[in-house]
Amino acid sequence: MREPVKIPKELIEKLKPFGPRFIKVSKPILGDKKSGKGAIEKDWPNHPYEADDPELVKWLEGGGNYGFILGRGLYALDLDDPELQTIFESEVDTLIIQSGSEIGRHYPIRSDSTDNAVILDEPDENKKRKNLGNLQVRNKYVVGPGSNHYTGGTYKILRNCPIAWVDKEKLFEIFGEGLVWTGQARSSRLSQKETSNLGFEIPIAQIIDMSKLRQISDQEWQGSHPIHGSDSGTNFCVNKVKNCWHCFRCNSGGGPLSWLAVKNKLIRCDQAQKAILRGKLFQDTLDIAEKLGFKKQEMSKEEKQKLQKTCGENLENFIFEQISDEAFLIYNKTSGETQEASRVDNFIPWPKMDKLIKPVTKIAPFNYNNLWFAVKQYLKDHLEIIDVGYTIMTAWIFVTWVVDLFNTVPYLFFFGPHNSGKTWALKILSAVVFRPFRTGHTSMSSIFRVCAAWHPTLILDETEDYMKHNRSAIINILNSGYTRGFPAVRVEEREEGFAIRTFDCFGFKALAGTEEFVPTLKSRCITFNMSKNTGDYPDEIDYSRGQSLREQLLMLRFQAMANKIKFEKPPSIFKSRLRELLTPLLMVAPESEREEIIRYGEELTKITQEEERSSDDAIIFRVINKIIEENPQITKISIREIAGELNMNLPLGETYSHVKVGRTCARLGFQTTRIGSGRGIRWTKMVLERLKLRFGSVKSVAISF
Ligand SMILES: [Zn+2]
Repeated sequence: MREPVKIPKELIEKLKPFGPRFIKVSKPILGDKKSGKGAIEKDWPNHPYEADDPELVKWLEGGGNYGFILGRGLYALDLDDPELQTIFESEVDTLIIQSGSEIGRHYPIRSDSTDNAVILDEPDENKKRKNLGNLQVRNKYVVGPGSNHYTGGTYKILRNCPIAWVDKEKLFEIFGEGLVWTGQARSSRLSQKETSNLGFEIPIAQIIDMSKLRQISDQEWQGSHPIHGSDSGTNFCVNKVKNCWHCFRCNSGGGPLSWLAVKNKLIRCDQAQKAILRGKLFQDTLDIAEKLGFKKQEMSKEEKQKLQKTCGENLENFIFEQISDEAFLIYNKTSGETQEASRVDNFIPWPKMDKLIKPVTKIAPFNYNNLWFAVKQYLKDHLEIIDVGYTIMTAWIFVTWVVDLFNTVPYLFFFGPHNSGKTWALKILSAVVFRPFRTGHTSMSSIFRVCAAWHPTLILDETEDYMKHNRSAIINILNSGYTRGFPAVRVEEREEGFAIRTFDCFGFKALAGTEEFVPTLKSRCITFNMSKNTGDYPDEIDYSRGQSLREQLLMLRFQAMANKIKFEKPPSIFKSRLRELLTPLLMVAPESEREEIIRYGEELTKITQEEERSSDDAIIFRVINKIIEENPQITKISIREIAGELNMNLPLGETYSHVKVGRTCARLGFQTTRIGSGRGIRWTKMVLERLKLRFGSVKSVAISF
């Protein structure tokens, strides 16, 4: 049995300035190639130990190895090639750790590099380049000296001296073209992105003086940076085939457009990074390119007509969403990869979309449950409603992002007097829902057009105003909008006469108003009765927090549409309308939240039944009262007479049966009695007065629409 591994004091001292650095590495087993090297804890980059941490000490005493992590200014160069080792050691005085294999050497250094790099051999006859070593920076660790190797050897400190500073240019001086930064590959990707949507090509060799550079492979030229120069004379590289450039000093690069921007001093070399050319900067660079004679060929009329404006589509293999005036974010449903582009198939971004809808600009990873509760907390931090309301609203926000999954959608309706927080509630929703479209002063015909073109989450405040001035139009949108495939039909007046147009207004809608809706619409809404906020809430909505939730929700949308997240229909608990309202919400709610939604549904069933009953009660009482007022001398009234009066103006199919009238009268407190061959009621002044008190405040029985 070997002695337990001890971390050398000299190493502990050298690493002290970098903070806790040590991690557990697996126990070596003699002859087992895979043993003795791997990190034991999954989350090792985030949980390094101090050298004397009892847990780490215990691990070492049990025969385990250890490692130290890189990053934050600490890098390590790994070289296996003896010749290169000699070259490097003659140039740089730094700590040397010999691998347990006794071949490889690790050189911890401090550097200004930000990327990992590889050291490659000259290309062989097949143009393959052998890997001679690595420069490791991010998410890497080194097995520490004192650790044991599966061959029986031990990792050793070969030269004990301080960790040396070696900057990028020095590294390049030592290894020359053998050194390939991982960032270089990124420059080539950036180049593709830059030019893929321009509609014209700018060969990079036409805008860089290649005669000043030296050819180092069949694709690459290298030399001194044409703008900021170079100490080594080799910090700039151009790849003609990949049509990209890279600067080793700044670890920057890209395609011809970003080079034009650097060359013309629109940006500094080190600013040539991802997504730098946007908006005006992009336009200015394009102007320079056009002055140089690179031009887009005019699109033919047919080509132009084929282009369709959209703010996002869900296609078979891709789903994309507009993220700015000029760009989409495209998600590949198979690979899960995303990229930006200004055109997808025949689709181009909607020009001033961001004037009406604040787009999400990127996606962010998420954990479903965490995201759910983060959204819920966001609501709680901004708004006071009944407890279950937070769950319902959270679910509703989630379903807006996966609207494609449903054929009918519930609306939200915030109902209450002025200053009861209705508008506030809508504003909060607009900070987190999918494609929020708050109408404000938008004209009715624009609302139709935007709904049809974008399928936004329509957010409509002061519905009573619309009911007054645009009643039929708004009812048209709302009535056709909750079921997929029932477009609104509209007659439009044009110069050449009237035209009939259809608008597909399907989509989620959140409404607020001081007056109730017609019953058909009311039954499509989940209604929140609003009263004044009493809690201590912020004056302003935290839009940036909302935006970061939307970034995660957009990722959720992408994954759900790619079937990477599956939502299942819950067993049907509720009947007809209520089932339509609540099924989507139950589908997206985490297991632990469903119970609350179900309880809410049960409560709603009860309330609806009670409401229906009490409105029947009121109607029937009114008829009885009318009969009594007209004939104060009678003491008995037949059910037949009440029903006759009740049903006089009601259409077939909606009339009250005698049984129902009889039952209602009994519930109202009238004594039932026989009148001739039929049934009737006997009324007393006391019952009548009591009922007047109960229903007296209601002026008219029919709802006011
Ligand atoms: Zn540079």
